[in-house]
Formats: sequence, structure tokens, C-alpha cells
Amino acid sequence: MKAITTDFEYLPATTVEEALDLLSQRKDDDYKIIAGGQSLNTAMKHRLIAPAYIIDIKGVSDLDFIKFDEKEGLKIGALTTHRSLEKSEIVRQKYAVLCEMEENVASVETRNWGTVAGDLCNADPAVDPAPPLIALDAKIKVSSKDEEKTFDAEEFAVDFYETVVQPGEMVTEIQIPVLPPNTGVYFTKYSQMQGDYALASVAVSITLDKKKDVCANARIGFAGVGSTPIRAKQAEEVLKGKKITEALLAEAAEVAKTEINPVSGIEGSADYKRELAGTLLKRVGKVAFERAQKA
Ligand SMILES: Cc1cc2nc3c(=O)[nH]c(=O)nc-3n(C[C@H](O)[C@H](O)[C@H](O)COP(=O)(O)OP(=O)(O)OC[C@H]3O[C@@H](n4cnc5c(N)ncnc54)[C@H](O)[C@@H]3O)c2cc1C
Repeated sequence: MKAITTDFEYLPATTVEEALDLLSQRKDDDYKIIAGGQSLNTAMKHRLIAPAYIIDIKGVSDLDFIKFDEKEGLKIGALTTHRSLEKSEIVRQKYAVLCEMEENVASVETRNWGTVAGDLCNADPAVDPAPPLIALDAKIKVSSKDEEKTFDAEEFAVDFYETVVQPGEMVTEIQIPVLPPNTGVYFTKYSQMQGDYALASVAVSITLDKKKDVCANARIGFAGVGSTPIRAKQAEEVLKGKKITEALLAEAAEVAKTEINPVSGIEGSADYKRELAGTLLKRVGKVAFERAQKA
């Protein structure tokens, strides 16, 4: 068997321009970006990948930011760590669901190093930030030397460990709009141990009408139950224009179970994960509704 070489050339960048320049000079498959290294180092250590060049963006301080504006909403730079998001006062005030989600991502050590963007780019199907980002209608900004593109959070991952990011491109920002009035958002994940990847996770956002009587809008994001995170659009439709009740949430859960596509593994069968996802949706939807009533 041919041994995989672990030699690589290390190319650090300190500005976005430098990073994009370095990216534009590389061939399609000979490099990897490193941010916090929490997933990349593991993949290299297990010899799953052996890039010839490592482009280090950890020193690009321009990308380490969390900004909130009442018109534009929240902007999270690509170097924002899980821990910074978890501990951000403005995020807790305006988008508490993100802090709640972060509290159960891996361990504090991993959250201190790992970036939210790096987690999305690693594209594990059970990635925790994806469901709340889908529920919050987030966009992911992808930049290259020549252009900038934005993708809806639910379009970002395209398969197991694959995203829309093309050679020469990098994620620079995550953008989340201001929450509409009367909106409640909640997320939960079910995992075998605290801090493990989820067997299934779901986030629900419910916006009530002015009288707080019926559901004006709903967004539902799942992870762990398909090759990528999934937006359950048909289940959202079940909720829209109706009074939220436990029976309606149960109906939405049945529909959502047809939109997801879990795979069997040692931690549970596909059928088990499908049932689990439906149960989580009912519970999470109820809390999102209660939050919307109080918002
Ligand atoms: C023990 C352990 C437990 C974990 N548990 C969880 C969990 O429960 N839930 C969860 O969601 N995650 C979990 N993770 C994953 C962890 O959150 C990610 O490893 C981390 O966030 C990745 O960020 P990073 O900055 O370290 O990325 P890196 O490891 O540096 O990079 C990861 C991948 O993303 C690419 N990349 C990084 N930044 C960019 C960018 N800006 N643009 C384009 N590509 C980029 C890299 O090339 C690489 O392919 C766990 C990880 C570990 C090690």
C-alpha cells in the first residue's frame, strides 16, 4: 500500500486580500484552508486527506467579528469561534437560540478553537449551527478574488462533507436578518452524550400575526437526518395561516418525516432517527410558539 505523504507547504495569510490571492494561485485540489483546525487536523491525522498546501486564515483578524445593526441584522465573520458566538451579549439578546445551540457543540476546548464557518465548511450532516441558521433565514457569503456570492443556509451543503464552496473561494461572513416581530425560535439536538454530534436536531422559527392568533410564517431546519442539513418546507406550509396547536405540530411532524432522509448507523436505524426527528419537531415547535407569544 502506498503511504500518504504528510508534507505540506504552510501559507499563512493576515488579510482577506492575501488569503484570496493565495487561493487564486492554487490548483483545484492541492490545498486546504485551515481556520481553527479542529476538523482539518483530525482528517489529516487520520490520513483521510493530504493537501500539498495549507492556507492558514487564522491570522486574518478582519474576519473575526460579530456585528449587529437594527436594519441589517447580525453579521458573523468567518473567524468567529463557537465560543465567541456563545458568549456574545448582543447575540444572546437578539438571537438567543444561537447561544443555546453553541452551549452543546463539542467541548469548551473545541469551541474555543473551532469556527462556526469552519463547522459549516466541514459539512458534517449533523452540524449544529445549520438548523438554527436555516430557521433564522441566514445567508452565507462566499468570496473569491473576482466575485462575492451569497447562499441560503439550506443550500450551503450539497452532500456529505461537500459544500457549494469552489476552488479559489472561501466563506467570509454569515448574515442573519433582523427577526420579524412576534417571532420565537428554538433549537434542540439529541445526541448520545453531551457535546456529541446529533443523531437528529431541529430548529423551528414561528412568526405569529399581529393579533398573535395564527402562524404568519414558519421555518424549520433539521440536521443529522440526511446527507446535508434540510429545510422542511412542506412541514412549514402545514403551520402557515393556522393556529398553532399540539395537533397541528403533530401534523407538521408527520409531513417533515417524509422530507428527511436519515441513514442507518451504529447509533440508530433510519426509522429510529425519523421518529426521533418527528418527536423533536413537536417539542421544539411548542417552545418556539411559546416564545413567539411572549416576543
Ligand atoms: C471532538 C469534536 C467534537 C465535535 N462535536 C461537534 C458537535 O457536537 N457539533 C458540531 O456542530 N460540530 C462539532 N465538531 C466540529 C467542530 O465544531 C468543527 O471541527 C469546528 O467548528 C471547525 O472549525 P475550524 O475553524 O476548526 O475549521 P478547520 O478544522 O480549520 O476547517 C474545517 C474545514 O472547513 C474548511 N474551512 C474552514 N474555514 C473556511 C472558510 N472560511 N472558507 C472555506 N473553507 C473553510 C477547511 O478547509 C476544512 O475543510 C466537533 C469537533 C471535534 C474535534
